[in-house]
Amino acid sequence: MCRHLAWLGTPRSLGELLLGPPYGLLVQSYAPRRQRHGRMNADGWGVGFYAPSRPEPARWRSNRPLWGDASFASVAPLISSGCVLAAVRSATDGMPADETAAAPFLSGRWLLSHNGVIDRSVLGSHPAAESVCDSALLAAHLFGFGAERLGSFVTALGRRDPGARLNLLLTDGQRILATRWNDSLSVLDAGDGVVVASEPYDDDPRWADVPEHHLVDVAAGAVTITELEI
Ligand code: GLN
Repeated sequence: MCRHLAWLGTPRSLGELLLGPPYGLLVQSYAPRRQRHGRMNADGWGVGFYAPSRPEPARWRSNRPLWGDASFASVAPLISSGCVLAAVRSATDGMPADETAAAPFLSGRWLLSHNGVIDRSVLGSHPAAESVCDSALLAAHLFGFGAERLGSFVTALGRRDPGARLNLLLTDGQRILATRWNDSLSVLDAGDGVVVASEPYDDDPRWADVPEHHLVDVAAGAVTITELEI
């Protein structure tokens, strides 16, 4: 399983969000605390973030470990955004190793990350997929289906592939949607914004675990958590 994180709130730097926290994505790339599948996330990383000048996000991805990226570490403290989505990758066996297979996947304003695995024959091919990686195919299918309908998309896929792990994290710059479906997920309401992450990046007592098979919706500072039909 990969690890991912999204922030929606007052602007924070990519350094503060990804590299600074004691158990943040940088540390999770070699020593995650709650990961059940795979020990490290050294197969790449990616970040997408929004700026006021345009609705579509900017994106930076790599197929190398986050801890080895000195150029990113140099610029990350100077890039700030009010909406950020980032991931570190542990590639599923048989999936491509290049950066097009690393989250976040992009369509218009939307960014998507997937912690997990899905049988690609359940999805089928898709002309808009950025890669043949299961997560990229899943992203293309979701963007085609309608990103706002994340809950019904995950419920339907879960029925068709009961072994699937479908922790998805999605944003359009104004809203975060996330599912917990067979792996860990936590939320932190930090007062000036909300973090949704695979696991807490520090020991702040305000982190709350999202229950299994639930949907998280963050918009205008409010967090709503609802149960998904199994
Ligand atoms: N299946 C996806 C990939 O290969 C995600 C893997 C994961 O969550 N570890 O990249």
